[in-house]
Amino acid sequence: MPELPEVDALAEFLRRKIVGDFVERIDIAELSLLKTVDPSLDSLAGLEITGTARVGKSLIIEFAGLDLVCRFARAGWLVWHDRVPTAPLKMGKGPLGMRIRLASGAGIDLTEAGTKKNASVALVSDRAEVAALAASGPDALKVDDDQFAVALSTSHGRIKNVLEDQEIIAGIGNAYSDEILHTAKISPFAPADSVDAGRLLAAIHTVLGAAREALIGLPPSKVKAAKKRGFSVHGRTGQPCPVCGSTIAEVSFAEKSLQYCPTCQTGGKKLSDRRMDRLLK
Ligand SMILES: [Zn+2]
Repeated sequence: MPELPEVDALAEFLRRKIVGDFVERIDIAELSLLKTVDPSLDSLAGLEITGTARVGKSLIIEFAGLDLVCRFARAGWLVWHDRVPTAPLKMGKGPLGMRIRLASGAGIDLTEAGTKKNASVALVSDRAEVAALAASGPDALKVDDDQFAVALSTSHGRIKNVLEDQEIIAGIGNAYSDEILHTAKISPFAPADSVDAGRLLAAIHTVLGAAREALIGLPPSKVKAAKKRGFSVHGRTGQPCPVCGSTIAEVSFAEKSLQYCPTCQTGGKKLSDRRMDRLLK
């Protein structure tokens, strides 16, 4: 799932490429992608792109008085074309969800891998019309110390879940929450209201700041691989922790898993992993 650093990289790449260009037309290949009907996507034809932005994990392509809000969900991504293919789109086949053709001849595809289609696009005159954006908490890179301390002290549940809750703090998902908690040396299962907010916020700035620095300037086709190269624990089950050398452990859930270092984060203890425990019985 694209998180704050990757969406910033996409927004920055597009800013350089498309601001000042004009939409020729937009085609939808996956009907479930588009969540709004009025105004229609056709109304963007001929309009100038005035900017790009990120809110939380959403990418926004800006026009005078209109925002095209793209939400990637777990498997959505963006493909850039210096020359956009001219063949008509095949409906409902493969990962292509939407193609934006620009007057310059360039183009952007919004894609979503897999069979679950959860990515979404909304064309709105005010981005607050998109419920997820209206409910979004403060940005992970802009939240101030006091605001963050209050958010944690009034949150219930495990810190890993709280970090991923976009209404509490926006921009962090499964991958960077693993990285942030590893940097802060905090257990993913620690109760949110017991965590040292200052230490955690410092880790948020360190991890997201370094990731942004590594990713901004890359084309979309290189961002995902570069993101993975930067991970210390996420997706690295069984490998040595780069800080202490211990073996990185995992907890699996139905649709995702988290990784952590038992030495750095949980006092050497393995967290309970119901799926693994069941397999081993
Ligand atoms: Zn470690």
